[in-house]
Amino acid sequence: MSTLYRLYRPQKFADVTGQEHIIQTITNEICAAKTAHAYLFSGPRGTGKTTLARLLAKAVNCQNRKDGESEPCNECPSCAEISASRNIDVMEIDAASHTGVENVRENIIDSAQFQPTKSKYKIFIIDEVHMLSTPAFNALLKTLEEPPAHVIFVLATTELQKLPATIVSRCQRFTFKKIGFDQMMSKLLKICKDQDVKVDKKVLERVINKSDGCMRDAESLLGQILTLNQKNIGPEDAEMILPTSNARQILNFVDAILNRDVKSAVALINELVSDGVNLEQFAYDALEILRLLMILQYDPTKEILDYSDEDAKLIKKMTKQAPAEQIIKLTDALMARRAQIKSAPIPQLPLELFAVEFSNCHSGLDTESIAANCHSEAPLSGDGESLSPSITQKIKTTLDEIKNKWHDITAGLTEQNHSLGFILKMGEPARMEGNELYLRVPFSLHKEKIEEQKTKKLIEGAMTDAFGEKICLICEVTQAQNDDGEITQLASEFGGEVVSL
Ligand SMILES: [Zn+2]
Repeated sequence: MSTLYRLYRPQKFADVTGQEHIIQTITNEICAAKTAHAYLFSGPRGTGKTTLARLLAKAVNCQNRKDGESEPCNECPSCAEISASRNIDVMEIDAASHTGVENVRENIIDSAQFQPTKSKYKIFIIDEVHMLSTPAFNALLKTLEEPPAHVIFVLATTELQKLPATIVSRCQRFTFKKIGFDQMMSKLLKICKDQDVKVDKKVLERVINKSDGCMRDAESLLGQILTLNQKNIGPEDAEMILPTSNARQILNFVDAILNRDVKSAVALINELVSDGVNLEQFAYDALEILRLLMILQYDPTKEILDYSDEDAKLIKKMTKQAPAEQIIKLTDALMARRAQIKSAPIPQLPLELFAVEFSNCHSGLDTESIAANCHSEAPLSGDGESLSPSITQKIKTTLDEIKNKWHDITAGLTEQNHSLGFILKMGEPARMEGNELYLRVPFSLHKEKIEEQKTKKLIEGAMTDAFGEKICLICEVTQAQNDDGEITQLASEFGGEVVSL
């Protein structure tokens, strides 16, 4: 099935996916019998360069094609032989393979001097032409400068910038583009229909997203999926072939980001890496969640489809907690980071940077100040890409002022929340770093309680009221005790005892 690419290789110009402008020009030239002696096709892999080169070869040599027509008949001996890659006058050379480079002189240059054996044109298709050696380029250039009338060169490359300008200037040049989503989808649907297999649209979307505009990759992936040999293929069936993160992991990641919980976010990213999940796809899925959150901001009645009830609940919770502005910033940043994944020296680094980027302020929910802190003060670029924890702002309030008012603040909070007041009384304002107040608490359970979003917001709000400026709260645990001791001591503080551990 991995030969789908070959099986569905277009046999007519009309069947080619994408590259319309190129096909238009070339077919016009064929109709008018005004083909060039040298073409240069450049563009990403899997976008149809060699496919078009072969179609061109077929069309110009087709024995049944009439003047003013451009499509090859696909029936005459010449067409049939080219389809089967055994036409003596059409030579395909892959310059990326060793032999191609070594023998370029005899294979191409010398052979070009002879008339075609039984066709009108002798056609040389040189794939990855940028790989030719300098002597080979020089020899090729000589031929291009005075091309024999019966010869057509089609040079194809993914790296145009590596070609000598002297070669480029001798060719009619076409730039191939990545194939668009809709075009890919219609081709894949056509293949599925032809194979009589129903493949869930979600699976096809995933295939397309994974293929990044490369039709050959998309067809190869679809080919692997079709080897499942089922008449109906859903997302779960395709999971083995298209390793994917599950919805819960994506939601947890977005949730951790919204909560500025770098530790969880980074742990999750590394879990994905060891599971072999495609990180680009994961980032794409996370973007889909952010998009959904954005839509829900404006249309809270929108039904949340494609998620379990439990996940839908989490999504609703996130919608309430994240203002549109924050979603927009996160979306922008994640789109940029996603684009870096492919070329990153460490694949998970861009996502990790994304997580750190949005954790730089520890304040729970005040996104305006987060935006100010995280963006204007601390652009993450160049050597600024360290994983150092926090970027802080200078403020006027001093530690002593906080210490002096601490009793009043906790008393005020005790009225609103009794147990919180109790915990805060045990806490001690230890130091200020920029706009961050480090509060020392005796137990990690206290820290967890205080750092709950809701609680933190409450305390930070009280401090803003008291000092007239934004102070972020960070907890530190003073005693390193093991959990058992901690719980036992806590229980006794509350007048109870631990029943079982
Ligand atoms: Zn023909």
